[in-house]
Amino acid sequence: MSSITAEPAQAVRELFIDGEFVAADTGETFIDVDPSTGQALAEVSAAQPSDIARALRAARSAQPAWAARPPRERGQVLLRTAEGIRALAEELAETESADTGKPLAQAKADVAIAADYFEFYGGYADKIYGDTIPLDGNNFAFTFREPVGVTGHIIPWNYPMQISGRTLGASLAAGNACVLKPAEEAPLTTLTLARILRDAGAPPGVVNVVPGLGASAGAALASSDEVDHISFTGGIETGRKVMAAAAENLKPLTMELGGKSPSIVLDDADLARAVPVITKALVQNCGQTCSAGSRLIVQRSRHEEMLERLTESVGALRVGPGLEDPDMGPLITPPQRERVMGYIEVGKEEGADLVAGGGSLDGSGNFVEPTVFDGVTTDMRLANEEVFGPVLAVLTVDDDAEALRVADSTDFGLISAVWTRDVDRAMWLARHLQSGQVYINSYGAGGGVPLPFGGYKRSGFGREKGLEAINEFTQVKTVALSVTTPDER
Ligand code: NAD
Repeated sequence: MSSITAEPAQAVRELFIDGEFVAADTGETFIDVDPSTGQALAEVSAAQPSDIARALRAARSAQPAWAARPPRERGQVLLRTAEGIRALAEELAETESADTGKPLAQAKADVAIAADYFEFYGGYADKIYGDTIPLDGNNFAFTFREPVGVTGHIIPWNYPMQISGRTLGASLAAGNACVLKPAEEAPLTTLTLARILRDAGAPPGVVNVVPGLGASAGAALASSDEVDHISFTGGIETGRKVMAAAAENLKPLTMELGGKSPSIVLDDADLARAVPVITKALVQNCGQTCSAGSRLIVQRSRHEEMLERLTESVGALRVGPGLEDPDMGPLITPPQRERVMGYIEVGKEEGADLVAGGGSLDGSGNFVEPTVFDGVTTDMRLANEEVFGPVLAVLTVDDDAEALRVADSTDFGLISAVWTRDVDRAMWLARHLQSGQVYINSYGAGGGVPLPFGGYKRSGFGREKGLEAINEFTQVKTVALSVTTPDER
């Protein structure tokens, strides 16, 4: 069992660099706000470029010894981290819920999934094999998968625990040292995670967590020549900046960006099964999920019945502060609420039919109603742009081929769902959809820890989750060996 040390209560939540909690160089801090109340939740040290440089130096000097450890020992550190997360699950879930506004039950699920990531990659650390390549009788070739070195991780505020788990777990298992910059809106659980990793035996410098503002801390990490790979999860505009900065130093990236993910409901679908799942895919995390099910593509003959069931299901949802464990919490910030309300206006102006929700709720939190627009067409902004809120666009189609065309008509391609009882129709769509994942009669799969995840088109490139993530965080070395035969000697 891992033993978890109690950290003295910190007035300011400090950066975690080289195994210690430290203030930012300049002493600068920022206020982390509770989106359910609009009140300050914590004061957090704001990493400056000099702090990022310090974290990268610590990672650089710690990495060779970490990579040289027997892989099984690296794995054991990650397995103890999973135990450590589970031991603190209650505290972590409450903090995650307060920090992000997500319902407590969902925060608990996120924490459990974060532990599962460390367990999954902990178990794999000693199984990162290379290949042998057949040449001829006197020549042999084989490959090693080696760590890339120091990896930078820039993550968003919507799933701090889950995303830290998937991206740090894979990178650490592969023998890298990591510098993680959480989002300024929700950094708290990543700092607790740093402590759990330390207590689980991650040596100083192997993991560094440096909260700070995107334009300073994030930009410093993305533009550093001291980072060997950047895993970025966030929006497209920020992704462009991160990629441009990394390009200056020719650094490779994994880009996990946004989506406009469709659920396709064919005329033979089981609607009683589909509707609760489609509702959850819309409102999970208040729609602030990269893979949110934000489009519903329904075959005409089931349209009326579908809309009836869906508006009933959406209308029954309870909205409230995350810690009260409603069905849906608030949006993360007031600007995010304005943005979502702006999209609701766009939907109305474009001539879509508002059939559920559409309003914001009174109070100091950033609450909006779950909203459904029917009569959306592929030329509308509502059909194409990521709202990042609980707003569903319903489009109607006549057959499978049109469903495919409409599903693929956006710039995104993160995930898709197909609802049908017919395996031929399901598999035809699964093979043709431009989408990193396709779910048939489901949406997501319990966090999807072992399932490779990433985007087609502008949803990004590279894959995290599953064993595929190991490829992102390793580089392949080929060794070719020529031998002589007894006759030649
Ligand atoms: P964001 O792009 O605003 O921020 C993401 C991170 O980038 C934050 O840590 C932020 O501080 C940092 N950042 C901001 N400016 C930066 C800069 N100039 N240089 C370097 N870093 C900078 O995203 P967000 O609003 O926090 O999250 C929402 C977006 O994330 C959505 O588009 C969503 O779809 C996407 N997302 C994708 C996935 C995925 O796995 N594909 C998962 C979750 C969220």
